[in-house]
Amino acid sequence: MRNKFYRFTNGIAFKTWMYYVIFSLCILLLLLVFQIILFEPYYQNFKTKDIKKIVNSIANNIQDDLSIQTITINNDGCSVIVRPDKSKKGIDAIGMSCLIYNNGKIDSTYLDELKNSETGEIRYIAEVEGSQEMLIYGKTFYTEEEKPYYVIFNTPIKPLKSTIQIMRNQFVIIAGLVLLLSLWISIYFSRRLTKPITNITKEAKKLSTGSYDVHFEKGEFKEVNDLAETLNYTSKELSQIDELRKDLIANVSHDIKTPLTMIKAYAEMIRDISGSNKKKRNEHLDVIISESEYLDRLVSDMRELSKMQAGVNELNLTDFDLGSIIKDTVYKFKTITKEEQIHIEVDIEPELVCHADRTKIKEVLYNFIGNAIKHYGEDKKVIVKAFLTNKNMIRIEVTDHGNGIEPHALNHIWERYYKVDKHYQRAHSGTGLGLAISKEILEQHHAIYGATSEIGKGSTFYFELPQVII
Ligand code: ADP
Repeated sequence: MRNKFYRFTNGIAFKTWMYYVIFSLCILLLLLVFQIILFEPYYQNFKTKDIKKIVNSIANNIQDDLSIQTITINNDGCSVIVRPDKSKKGIDAIGMSCLIYNNGKIDSTYLDELKNSETGEIRYIAEVEGSQEMLIYGKTFYTEEEKPYYVIFNTPIKPLKSTIQIMRNQFVIIAGLVLLLSLWISIYFSRRLTKPITNITKEAKKLSTGSYDVHFEKGEFKEVNDLAETLNYTSKELSQIDELRKDLIANVSHDIKTPLTMIKAYAEMIRDISGSNKKKRNEHLDVIISESEYLDRLVSDMRELSKMQAGVNELNLTDFDLGSIIKDTVYKFKTITKEEQIHIEVDIEPELVCHADRTKIKEVLYNFIGNAIKHYGEDKKVIVKAFLTNKNMIRIEVTDHGNGIEPHALNHIWERYYKVDKHYQRAHSGTGLGLAISKEILEQHHAIYGATSEIGKGSTFYFELPQVII
């Protein structure tokens, strides 16, 4: 229960709603402070500034009755002035409601206040009949001879109380509407955001149980789309890795089991049948030895490939002549070519110097030539060519005229454990790793490589390395 509550309050939906509400409340608070609480003082302040200007302009025209009258009438108020010679004057443009001058008489209360004021200013807001408010402002001025004169101005200000009450009522409605709207927007928005994420989580849970038949749906947000895309890619990769793992286990166990069965069977044969027959026993021992050699090769190949894929194997780069290592490699096959009467034709241009790992390139050559010998054609011929292309690349081609490789298989031969003929054949018991190792080596060298093949006509395996000019 607590956990459910925790999950809900930490979910996107709740958090979005919460932030929306906080945001709306902040705006409402600002509105409340500025529109309602500060509205009245702001207005009064504004009006005071106005009235100060009027008082100043009256003071500037203190001797000019006409100007004072015009200013008072234009500003919809009434004024009282006491000139430097102490003569008093009152002008009224608002009639009865004037508080400082009424019925031709100056009310001395405000005038006395002003005279006694320490600041030389007075400012009052007074309420008259009804809800009418009056603003009174007075200021003491001085002539050059330091003689004082006084100006008081009185103007009605708009009754704000009812306006503020209306605004308060409206504010309650606005606040309610804003909160409702924020609730609706946050629910709508968080649904749109959480829906694809919930779907993604559901699919990811499936993925975690090892089911790769999943699809991460995209939403309308870029970030969610990126996540869905990455997860789709990951699940595809994982499924391929899983396939590979299954294949790998099947292949490795098959490749190890078959020679082990042979070794066991032949050892039993020696024990039970051929132990005393030297010729037969040697024949059986040869099978055991060759199967053990195969196992040895398989384990070494597996170790080398995994080392290379883990990036443990560093390249030992030197400049060397490719021609000489081709000759060395071809020489290694002397016994088998002699036995099977296979002819290796070597066509090498002179001075083909490259910058590479000698031992590793030799291994690639060994794999290519070894494969060509395994798949020789009727002419029993393998052709090894090395020449310079017009792009200053040294190109090595190993060609046989054997059965060739089906186009669909041609795309897979570089994968580990891939064998065109899945049946175990004693005569051609490759580990299925030769080309995968060659591919790793050539890619480490950033070499161009590939194979072309035609069914019934044979295959050519090639790679290219840049020529080093000495
Ligand atoms: P293996 O050690 O089993 O030969 P490779 O990785 O060297 O494994 O080769 C992968 C697959 O490519 C093998 O099944 C092999 O039959 C096929 N292959 C390689 N070279 C040739 C070739 N010259 N002609 C026909 N098939 C080939």
